[in-house]
Amino acid sequence: MGDFTLELNDDQQSVRDWIHGFAADVMRPAAAEWDEREETPWPIIQEAAKIGLYSLDFYAQQFFDPTGLGIPMTMEELFWGDAGIALSIVGTGLAAVGVLANGTEEQIGTWVPQMYGDADDVKVAAFCSSEPDAGSDVGAMRTRAVYDEAKDEWVLNGTKTWATNGGIANVHVVVAVVDPDLGTRGHASFIVPPGTPGLSQGQKFKKHGIRASHTAEVVLEDCRIPGDCLLGGKDKLDERLARARERAKAPGGERVKNAAMATFEASRPAVGAMAVGTARAAYEYALEYARSREQFGRPIIDNQGVAFQLADMRTQIDAARLLVWRASWMATAGRPFTSAEGSMSKLFASETAKKVTAQAIQILGGNGYTREYPVERMHRDSAIYTIFEGTSEIQRLVIARTLSGLPIR
Ligand SMILES: Cc1cc2nc3c(=O)[nH]c(=O)nc-3n(C[C@H](O)[C@H](O)[C@H](O)COP(=O)(O)OP(=O)(O)OC[C@H]3O[C@@H](n4cnc5c(N)ncnc54)[C@H](O)[C@@H]3O)c2cc1C
Repeated sequence: MGDFTLELNDDQQSVRDWIHGFAADVMRPAAAEWDEREETPWPIIQEAAKIGLYSLDFYAQQFFDPTGLGIPMTMEELFWGDAGIALSIVGTGLAAVGVLANGTEEQIGTWVPQMYGDADDVKVAAFCSSEPDAGSDVGAMRTRAVYDEAKDEWVLNGTKTWATNGGIANVHVVVAVVDPDLGTRGHASFIVPPGTPGLSQGQKFKKHGIRASHTAEVVLEDCRIPGDCLLGGKDKLDERLARARERAKAPGGERVKNAAMATFEASRPAVGAMAVGTARAAYEYALEYARSREQFGRPIIDNQGVAFQLADMRTQIDAARLLVWRASWMATAGRPFTSAEGSMSKLFASETAKKVTAQAIQILGGNGYTREYPVERMHRDSAIYTIFEGTSEIQRLVIARTLSGLPIR
């Protein structure tokens, strides 16, 4: 007895307070400006790099926190500061994880530092999986990677879309089809090094929220990359494809696909934590506003109609955080998500953020509806959480399939 705790330890608390300080002092004051500019906030990323908050070391440290709470705690504080700027800061991490998960030690050592650059010359990275006709349905991916044995090069052709930092990244990680007959099992990930001819930015999207984060198409036209840019290496790919072909023939071959889905599941609590950060920011703002705004001769929080909304908002935010922390702890402790707990945390937290930020607008009345007050931006920002890294419908599909063991459609 005595070991169980839901409290952050002293180290975690001091890291959290440090991130919170940056979020409050640097990100918050800049949030409205970068939202209007709809540009990557390079000066803020640079400031984060100067203090070590934008660096491979920092994220690796949080990732390997033995309690599993390092990443959710970091995400919550950064996204409490501002979602758009925060995504510009953590977007590189998505590409870095792609390399850490699939790359050889040499590939990790070569490419991940180039994703971040350094404090004097910061860089970002992009992870490019989604395509115009392959969003939720990853199996419909069409970007092809063909091996040119004579030159020991891979040739990439296709169009990626919705890539965070796409086209402005120093390093792009691109998922492509190497064997179309194997569905998602025939996919592989590649590094496209800085300045590679054949990779260009397509349209940059004008978005509803997280406007300080750059989102664009990435076009690959006969984009040639060295053979050693295949993550994991050719031998490992050939072995994996051979196994997939065998399993595709054998009964129960679908299990391979489920293993891939389990990997996805592990990253979803991090998105849940982002949503908790935005929801908490809106709730805190609404609480203070309700205390100070007077109508009918008393603060509006004196009305149950307002106070009960705040009670519900806070309860849902805390419930969301508990689901996120449970899933993060399970992932770190190597516990299998037997009930799709990763998806549950992302589903609940993202829906909570949308609901809570809408309630915050309501509590601020007319002011809440204007860009003079931050809750309007937080509500626009929150809509992304139910869409990227698997929509809410896809999370429900994963949960329902896991619980029922049936191929629910
Ligand atoms: C701002 C932003 C940043 C992004 N960043 C990246 C990135 O860095 N890298 C990257 O690769 N991708 C990124 N994405 C892509 C994102 O992951 C996809 O948008 C998402 O997976 C949904 O795909 P889609 O947009 O094609 O929607 P669709 O798959 O077309 O879905 C449309 C609707 O249909 C529903 N639907 C689809 N299939 C089913 C089903 N079987 N059952 C029930 N409902 C279903 C969906 O839930 C959704 O409501 C980003 C997207 C955005 C908007």
